[in-house]
Amino acid sequence: MTRDSYRSISLYAPNRAPAAIDLSDNTNLWGVPPAALRAITDAASGTITRYPALYAADVKQAIADYAGLAPEMVVTGCGSDDVLDSAIRAFGEPGDVVAYPDPSFAMIPIFARMNGLVGAPIPLTARNDADVERYIETNATITYLCSPNNPTGASFSRDAIERVVSGVTGIVIIDEAYAEFAGWNCLDLLVRFPRVVITRTLSKAFGLAGLRVGYALGDPELVAEIEKSRGPYKVNAIAQHAAVAALTTDRAWVDRHVRDAIANRDRLRESLMAIGLEPLPSDSNFVLVPVRNAAELDRQLRTRGIAVRPFVALPNIGDALRISVGPWQLLEQCIAALQECAV
Ligand code: PMP
Repeated sequence: MTRDSYRSISLYAPNRAPAAIDLSDNTNLWGVPPAALRAITDAASGTITRYPALYAADVKQAIADYAGLAPEMVVTGCGSDDVLDSAIRAFGEPGDVVAYPDPSFAMIPIFARMNGLVGAPIPLTARNDADVERYIETNATITYLCSPNNPTGASFSRDAIERVVSGVTGIVIIDEAYAEFAGWNCLDLLVRFPRVVITRTLSKAFGLAGLRVGYALGDPELVAEIEKSRGPYKVNAIAQHAAVAALTTDRAWVDRHVRDAIANRDRLRESLMAIGLEPLPSDSNFVLVPVRNAAELDRQLRTRGIAVRPFVALPNIGDALRISVGPWQLLEQCIAALQECAV
């Protein structure tokens, strides 16, 4: 099912020729954190010929220290994709419902179907927040929230998140792939609500998308269930070394580029407004900007060597382009190209 339904959601086309400037996937456009890069290049052959740690204990410890939690509250995976897929499999039986915001991360309905569950898309409110009453009415076995939300960019309000968490009786997964760019997060909810799981990734702020390292945080019993459904050896040996380096030695580098991303995101929104566009507010490292014809604009940008992520007919929003934030010289070229195209 995946290819056609995925394309219809976002015109996602991962096999297209790479563009000179790729602002399409919200990864870290400042590069790889330096200690992580050294860990990759210094990897001894012994690291490669042997199996890695089964459940990446050192990575768990580094994540636990980063999040201020016990390592028993951490499970890792091959990207947060893997962690989300494993969590849906762990907490849902075939036929159970997964409620999720619409629009949001496009893989959630796919993971639901892959595991035999039924997706229940819940439209966003007019202010692109979570529609609390609809989640409570649906009372799904698994409620997925994404904050900051992809592709809209802004966080859900703290009040809406708390009311959903208190109002439903099932497991709530809060996807915080972009939390580093928001300046706040929901970690404190883990203590008050042992039914909450937070997923995160090293693919965005930490610059390691190609190594595929994600994690979930939550009550040790829930985390153990995710780990069982995930299985052993999901984070490879080189990724484990690089992840530990990024989470420890590289923290100042990561923080600096998170600050750069936030500054450039706000500057990008202002520049888009200056050329007559109306970008949505963002707490992430990307900006969603409604346009008249996303497919055509995407094609025109591509001919100018620029890749963004086009979306067609998003509920309440219509066509839109999602533009990742990176060094200003890249964004400048994107803005200039948009100006040339008839936006
Ligand atoms: N959640 C959200 C909201 C995302 O946007 C993404 C990737 N674009 C992911 C999860 C998955 O990221 P990864 O598998 O690289 O950790």
